[in-house]
Amino acid sequence: MFIKISNLNDATHELFYAGKIQEIGLNSPFCDDYKLKIDLSKSHLQVIIVAELELKAKLNCDRCQFDFIGNIEQKFEHVYILGNKLSELDDDDLNISYLSADADKINISKEIIDYSNLAIPIKILCKEGCKGLCYQCGINLNEKICNCSDEKKDYRWNVLLELKNKLSN
Ligand SMILES: [Zn+2]
Ligand SMILES: [Zn+2]
Repeated sequence: MFIKISNLNDATHELFYAGKIQEIGLNSPFCDDYKLKIDLSKSHLQVIIVAELELKAKLNCDRCQFDFIGNIEQKFEHVYILGNKLSELDDDDLNISYLSADADKINISKEIIDYSNLAIPIKILCKEGCKGLCYQCGINLNEKICNCSDEKKDYRWNVLLELKNKLSN
């Protein structure tokens, strides 16, 4: 995704984009439409963007295995230096890219893809307080209550029972 900068004066500009996720280089697990707001500050030395991205993704709950579409929001900042590399800047800084002094556009595709992937939570829950599946009968406890005894629902107790069964065999 390119943003043309040659026609922007040295100031802060608010830019809005929306469309299908494929148009900004995203695919599964992301789906449907995206919204992107960018505050772009331009000077003759650099372009700084502060981006707010809204996405949807097809996710699977880690606790009840339910497939659902979750909303994902991500905010990130990136600096594009125009011209020579400044020696005092750390090469390892992930938030900085270098462009030629006469660059007429910036390419934000890599940032969009990297930050979108980072926004997917490590622990995915379909909702806060998801009750998960019953360890005994496998029923989705968000939808139904089963007749398994509360004692047996305690997973730690199951482990002990399994051990006992193994030892007695
Ligand atoms: Zn769940
Ligand atoms: Zn049950």
